[in-house]
Amino acid sequence: MSETKSTEKTTENSTPTNFIRNKINQDLAEGKNDGRVHTRFPPEPNGYLHVGHAKSICLNFGIAEDYQAPCNLRFDDTNPAKESEEFARSIQEDVSWLGFEWEGEIRHASDYFDDLYNFAEELINKGLAYVDEQPAEDIAKNRGNFQTPGKNSPYRDRPTEESLELFRNMKAGKYADGQMVLRAKIDMAHPNMLMRDPVLYRIRRLHHIRTGDKWCIYPMYDFTHCISDSIEHITHSLCTLEFEVNRPLYDWVLDNISAPSRPQQIEFSRLNLAYTITSKRKLTQLVEDGKVDGWDDPRMPTIAGMRRRGYTPQSIRNFCAAVGISKVNSVTDMTLLEDAVRNDLNDTVERRMAVLDPIKVVITNYPEDKEEMLEGMNHPKIEEMGTRELPFTRELYIDRADYRESANKKYKRLVKGGEVRLRNAYVIRADEAILDENGEVKELHCTYDPDTLGKNPEGRKVRGVIHWVSAKYAKEATVRLYDRLFNVPNPGAMDDFNQALNPDSLKVIKAMVEPSVAEAEPETRFQFEREGYFTTDRYEHNADSLILNRTVTLRDSWNG
Ligand code: ATP
Ligand code: MG
Repeated sequence: MSETKSTEKTTENSTPTNFIRNKINQDLAEGKNDGRVHTRFPPEPNGYLHVGHAKSICLNFGIAEDYQAPCNLRFDDTNPAKESEEFARSIQEDVSWLGFEWEGEIRHASDYFDDLYNFAEELINKGLAYVDEQPAEDIAKNRGNFQTPGKNSPYRDRPTEESLELFRNMKAGKYADGQMVLRAKIDMAHPNMLMRDPVLYRIRRLHHIRTGDKWCIYPMYDFTHCISDSIEHITHSLCTLEFEVNRPLYDWVLDNISAPSRPQQIEFSRLNLAYTITSKRKLTQLVEDGKVDGWDDPRMPTIAGMRRRGYTPQSIRNFCAAVGISKVNSVTDMTLLEDAVRNDLNDTVERRMAVLDPIKVVITNYPEDKEEMLEGMNHPKIEEMGTRELPFTRELYIDRADYRESANKKYKRLVKGGEVRLRNAYVIRADEAILDENGEVKELHCTYDPDTLGKNPEGRKVRGVIHWVSAKYAKEATVRLYDRLFNVPNPGAMDDFNQALNPDSLKVIKAMVEPSVAEAEPETRFQFEREGYFTTDRYEHNADSLILNRTVTLRDSWNG
């Protein structure tokens, strides 16, 4: 796999171009599909959507937005064993949260079970499908392999009437699960293994979330997918590269039934993200084994997880645009995603101060009974974002890392005898550090200069600016510091990816935050100055119990 190379060129206010859009433009110019464009996003409701699905969503719904065309949301629900209502609900929520709207009602492949059945009979009647009674092992064995052609089934040339009757009986529930299947009659020596008389229907007595117990035969994916597209009059059926080998079958089915319309399948490369996994099966395993706290654990690469972590829909959309659409498989660096998040949050969220590792500061020349209400800019560059009240008191907290007994000039923080500005407040000087029995700083005694509010002291050297909160008014908050879930670049390639789980992917600390954070609704994002971007937890945060998740650090701490 190569490094990400984007073929999609996006600049602000310009429409991206890529080979798929070029093809659509060409089709429009040639008057194909009566000048229509219609896409769809067809997830299987067997797990939560992940960042790879976001790429497909942005592609399909993005094309729909740009061409003012419809995009359907269709649940590919032909495998009742693994599907659930919870997954279906989460998928709808994720697509909406990303800011996209599907056309009309949600579709289901299962809506078309009757049509699919009738198209299967059409194939039988045309002599293009037959009921095969070979045991499953024989079917597999007789398919041959890449070197050897397959062997025709002894049932392959049975009369049409016989297949038709057996197929009707299959539907009527007269046979046991697995006793026989319906197969397309294509070519057992075809170089593409998928074309060696693929199975179209199998008998499975499974309760379906939508059709209940109406059916005991279920259509296979390859048969269902192309026909569903055709019924919905999809013009461009976009899917990932691994389906390239399925395209001849997609075309064969549509060419041999009275298809309502003739969609075209076009493949693009999957999104692979370094240091994580984008396989639903493996994500399911993480959830089921309790390695994470559910599908929406903020460490998960799921859309729900990224949301809970504080990523914005826009940042995910910008990321997908930056990755682009191509036919080259590659691995995308996590930095690209995190930078998209930082860039979006930098311009959109309010600043607050939070001290993650507090030490107490006593301003010895600030009167005991005095309190002031200072003002903090909510955004350093965007005045319209307003200001907030910041109580200033004799006792404050600053971060442990912002004080040293002595340090060289590169240390832009507080040292004994040196001065720093407290953000949005005064200049202070450190006079004395009170140590505990372990030699750690327990309390700092400082003095402040009352003439330095909003202006710098003339002719004096201030090392830097640090953040602080009032000890009296600050609120305690539980802060979850997230790091990467895996500590190897490609955990998906390991036999056991559990070996690569990062034991430090979650650290929970108690921090002291500005009082205004207590007023924030769940899912409010902030930049804690000098610390990073944080969001109040979607589910657990409230005014009495402040819970914040770290979305992303201010700078990339992995690549230095
Ligand atoms: P998984 O491999 O994780 O099980 P899937 O492809 O089986 O995913 P679906 O629910 O069938 O999951 O996916 C819905 C759509 O999303 C499909 O069109 C699929 O091609 C696309 N998709 C899935 N994973 C990715 C990915 N990593 N990058 C881009 N598109 C993806
Ligand atoms: Mg799939």
